[in-house]
This record gives sequence, structure tokens and C-alpha cells, in this order.
Amino acid sequence: MPAVTVEDTTALPRVPLPAPRTVRRRTRTVTTAPSGFEGEGFPVRRAFAGVDLRALDPFIHMDQMGEVEYAPGEPKGTSWHPHRGFETVTYIIDGTFEHADSHGGGGTISNGDTQWMTAGGGVLHIERPPEQLVASGGLFHGLQLWVNLPRAQKWVEPRYQDLRAESSVLLASPDAGAFLRVIAGDVAGQRGPGSTYTPMAMVHATVSPGATLDLPWRPDFNALVYVLSGAGSVGIDGAPVRTGQLAVLGPGDTVTVRGALHQESRTPALDVVILGGRPIREPIAMYGPFVMNSRQEVMDAFTDHQAGRLGSIPAQYGRRESVPHGDLRGETGQTTDADA
Ligand code: MN
Repeated sequence: MPAVTVEDTTALPRVPLPAPRTVRRRTRTVTTAPSGFEGEGFPVRRAFAGVDLRALDPFIHMDQMGEVEYAPGEPKGTSWHPHRGFETVTYIIDGTFEHADSHGGGGTISNGDTQWMTAGGGVLHIERPPEQLVASGGLFHGLQLWVNLPRAQKWVEPRYQDLRAESSVLLASPDAGAFLRVIAGDVAGQRGPGSTYTPMAMVHATVSPGATLDLPWRPDFNALVYVLSGAGSVGIDGAPVRTGQLAVLGPGDTVTVRGALHQESRTPALDVVILGGRPIREPIAMYGPFVMNSRQEVMDAFTDHQAGRLGSIPAQYGRRESVPHGDLRGETGQTTDADA
């Protein structure tokens, strides 16, 4: 797992020790992500499946893409597809992914880079491995997170942020047993590079076997811990977690993550993504690639897309058929439309 790694974690700034009387969050639920396929057929784990949207708020959806070792010719992406009403955050741990969108955003991201696309009022984009990686095959591992936008910001102009791995803020726990990459938000007094509409934080932490991370976490944020690989426990109650599991934590000031003493040899440490944000607490109507407040707004998004009002495919990419992504997700698409 390259992402960003450092030779000597003891040289990094340290997360402060928890304040006296800090409230360490307890685990509410642990769920196991089912496996599926996205786009033209790349394997994913649906990290949030089976979790109430109110516990996830302001997050909506997350796929762990891979980890997969592709044979030559095998790597898959998506075709051109639309989004409206939220932000997509793609974090590549191993391998390379290319993006292009109808608003002029795009680029190539690899090993620890993040691209942050605000779909806002509407955008078309494509996400795929570059041609040389399709030809060669190879290791691919990443995440795609969907962050909701509040009603007042669903119609903002699309935006693209290219966050290079080097811009992640790197920290260590007090005994340097855990290594943190802050991708967005304020964590332990340090600010990650991602600029977000909805206040939130995203951290990729590597916790050594036997080490404990007590991470100060804003009490007004929710707290989710997703296990990319390895084994350990989460929360003051020490709920066991392993690869592909999501822990939702209750209220408090601190997120606790422990690395199990014994890890499988292929995953020498516990790797987790820690997410939190200020809940938006609005009705959510989501279907396929659109996340709105009401069913009517989702129907309008489909109509607008068919009429070409979400953008057009840039000329240099030619005119390829646009297939909505979420073909699979549509089968399990959640609609919690309180005001319909
Ligand atoms: Mn997409």
C-alpha cells in the first residue's frame, strides 16, 4: 500500500494526547461491505451498504475500488455519465486513474493523489485507467466517496480540485505507532488540502500492530471508520473490525483505533479511512448519479440530462454513449424523501 509513506514516522508532528476527561466515542454499529462491480466492471466494496443515511450524513456513498491485480487488457473504468447535487472524492492508493469532465476539470491521479469534483448543478465525467495501464495491467486500489451538498449549494458551479499526494498533511500519534495523512479538514490543529463545501474531515491512517490511535475529533462531526485492510478494534469499547468493515461511532471528542497485534502477512498494519462531517439533516432523494432533496428534483435531473443540460462531452473525447453510473446502485438505490 504505497499511498504516501514515510521512512521515519518519529520525525513527523504529533497528534496531541487526549485532554483529561476527553470522551472517547463508542462503536454503534459494525457492518461488512458487500462486493459488487462499478462502471464497465471494476470490482468494488460498497462501504456504506446497510447503514442508515442519517448515521452517514453528510456522506452518502463510498466504494473501495479493488484492491485488484489486473491482467493486461483487463483494467476497467466508467463511460461518460452525469452527476448533480453532491461531490465525488476519489483517492488513489495504488495505481493510476484518469478523469475528465465537461466543465474542463480533469487529470491523472496515482499513489496517494486525490481528485475532488463538485458536481453542483450538473456535470458529465469519465473515470478510467490510462491506456498504458490497460495495456500493462497491474495493481489498482482506491476509494470513491460521495459527499452531499446542502440544498443551498446543490446548484453551485462545478469545481475540480487536484490534490497531490505531497500536499497531504502528515502526522503521527504521540508514540508514532500510527501514521496519518490528512486529506481534508482540520485534524489535531492541522488543515488538510481539500476545500469542502460541507464541513468535514478525511484521514487515511496506518496503525501499527499493537498501537493505539486516539484522534481528537470535532464533537459536532459524525465519525466513521472504514477498514481498507488489516485487523484491529475501534471505539473505547474495542469493537473488532477487519478488512471491508465500517464502524459508525457515537458522540464524543476522540476516535480510538487499535491495530491488532497479529496481522496477516499480506497486510502488515491496520489501514483505515476516518471520516466525519457536520450532518446536513435535510431530506435525501437519490437515484443513480443524482442526489437531491426531493423525488421531483431527481426526475428533473434525468430530464435535464437527456436534454443535454448537464454539459456535453468535450470534443477531444469524441462522442461516446453516456451511460449513467449507478446501474448497479439503482437496484439498491435508497430514497428517503421526507417531503415527497
Ligand atoms: Mn462518477
